[in-house]
Amino acid sequence: MLKLESLVFDNGFARLPEAYYSRVCPTPVPDPYLVCYSPQAAVLIDLDPAEMARPELVETLAGNRLLPGMDALAALYAGHQFGHYVPQLGDGRAILLGEVKNAAGEGWEVQLKGAGRTPYSRGGDGRAVLRSSIREFLCSEAMHALGIPTTRALAIVGSDHPVYREDVETAALVTRLAPSFVRFGSFEVFYYRNQIEPIRQLADYVIARYYPELAARAEPYAELLREVARRTAELMAQWQAVGFSHGVMNTDNMSILGLTLDYGPFGFLDAFDPGFVCNHSDSGGRYAFDQQPDVAAWNVTKLAQALVPLLSVETASAAIGDYPQQFGRAYIERMAAKFGLPPGGETVPLLMDTLQLLAQNRVDYTIFLRRLCDFDSTPGALNAPLRDLFPDRPAFDAWAARYAAALRQQDSADATRREAMRALNPKYILRNHLAEAAIRRAADHRDYSEIHRLHALLSRPYDEQPECEAYAAEPPDWAKRIEVSCSS
Ligand code: AMP
Ligand code: MG
Repeated sequence: MLKLESLVFDNGFARLPEAYYSRVCPTPVPDPYLVCYSPQAAVLIDLDPAEMARPELVETLAGNRLLPGMDALAALYAGHQFGHYVPQLGDGRAILLGEVKNAAGEGWEVQLKGAGRTPYSRGGDGRAVLRSSIREFLCSEAMHALGIPTTRALAIVGSDHPVYREDVETAALVTRLAPSFVRFGSFEVFYYRNQIEPIRQLADYVIARYYPELAARAEPYAELLREVARRTAELMAQWQAVGFSHGVMNTDNMSILGLTLDYGPFGFLDAFDPGFVCNHSDSGGRYAFDQQPDVAAWNVTKLAQALVPLLSVETASAAIGDYPQQFGRAYIERMAAKFGLPPGGETVPLLMDTLQLLAQNRVDYTIFLRRLCDFDSTPGALNAPLRDLFPDRPAFDAWAARYAAALRQQDSADATRREAMRALNPKYILRNHLAEAAIRRAADHRDYSEIHRLHALLSRPYDEQPECEAYAAEPPDWAKRIEVSCSS
C-alpha cells in the first residue's frame, strides 16, 4: 500500500486531443475537513487507507492542491435530458484530476465532484452540497457491495464555504473513482455537431482502453455498441431486481462501461410500487421505477445514433436489437434466483403475479424478499413473518400455496436454498430515511458517525448484523416527507 506521494499517474484521457475537454484546475475551498472515506475504495488505487487523514490528502481532495502527475480537466459532453437534446453539458462541477495506475495495471480515474466552476458550468456554481455528497458517497459504495456495477467513492471532504440552493448549505466534494467517466453524451456531442472524426477517435480510445478484445473484430464499432447495450441491459436487470431507482436517466448520466453513474435524487423502493418516482422534479414520471429498462433502451438508441456515422443504420440497429431479450433474460434469471426457483417454466408467471400482489398490498420489497429466504415449503406451514406483511391474508395464503408447490417441485432443501437466497436478497439497503438521518447529524452537528456506521453496515448488505436490526426495518412515517430533487 502506497503513500500519497508514491501514487503513479498515467492520464489516458488527458492524452486525447483537447476537443474532448478543457484543462481547468479546481477552485480551492477554505479549511477543508475530511468527512468520511472508503478504505475499500482507497485500495483500488493502492493507497494506504491510513493516508486518508493526512492534511495533504484532504487538501488534494478539496481541490486546493494538485499532486505531481495530475493533469486536471473537465470533460465535454452533451445529452438528452428528459427526452430533449441539450447540445452542451460537460463536467460543470466535476474535475478529473488524473488517472492512477495501480500495481495490477488497472487505471482508475480520480475525479472531484463539486470542485468549482468549469467552462461547462452554464451559470451553475460548480459546487455540490454536503447533503447530496453524503448520498452519493454512501450509495456508490453500497451499490458496489450489492454487486452492482458503479462508479466508486473514495471520500467526502467538506468546507464551510456557503452554497446557495433552496437554503444556504455548505460545500462538499466527493472523490469518485472509475475506470472511465465517458458517457453516451460524450459521443452525442460530436454527432450533433456533425464531427465524425472525433466520434471515431473517442470510440477507438474506448475500445483500446476498455474493450480491447473487440479491436480485432471485423466491425469493432458495432461490437462496441453491442457490448454497451448488453452491459446496460444487465445493469437495468440489477437495478430492477434490487429495487433501485436512479431518478435522472439522461443520456449524459449513462456510462459507456455500463456503470451506475451520477447519483442525484435516486431512491430504493420501500413498499413495492412499479410507478415509484424518486425524483421530486420529475413530475411526468419519465424516470419512474418501471420505466427504467425502456428508458435505458431509448438511451442506447441515442448512443447508436451517435455512432451511425461509423457504421450504418442497419448495423447499428442490429447491434442493439437484442437489448429487450438481454434485459428480459437477465432480469428473469436474477429474479428467479432471488426466489430460489429455476428461470423457466411456471416461474415467470409466478414472479409477475408475486410483484402484482406486493404492489396491491404495498408490501416492503426488500423485507419481503429477505423473509422469503426463510420460507417453509412444508404443506400447511403458516410462514407467519411473511404473512404478516400482507393486509390481504387470503391472497397471501393462496400465493404461498402456489410458491410452496413450485419449491417442492425442485426438491431442494429449505436450508440450502435459504443460504443461496440470502446471498441474493440484501437485508440492508440505503433507504432514504437512513441517509437522511446521517445527513441531519452531519449538517446540524458536524457528527459524521452515522455516515461511518451506514458505510460499514452497507458494505455487508447480505450479512445478518443483529446489532443493526433497526436499519432493516420499514421506513418511519416521517420518511414520507423527504423530498429529493435535482437540486444538489
Ligand atoms: P446532473 O443532473 O447532476 O447529471 O447534471 C447535469 C448537468 O448540470 C451536468 O453538466 C452537470 O455538470 C451540471 N451541473 C449540475 N449542478 C451543477 C452546478 N452546481 N454547477 C455547475 N454545473 C452543474
Ligand atoms: Mg450528470
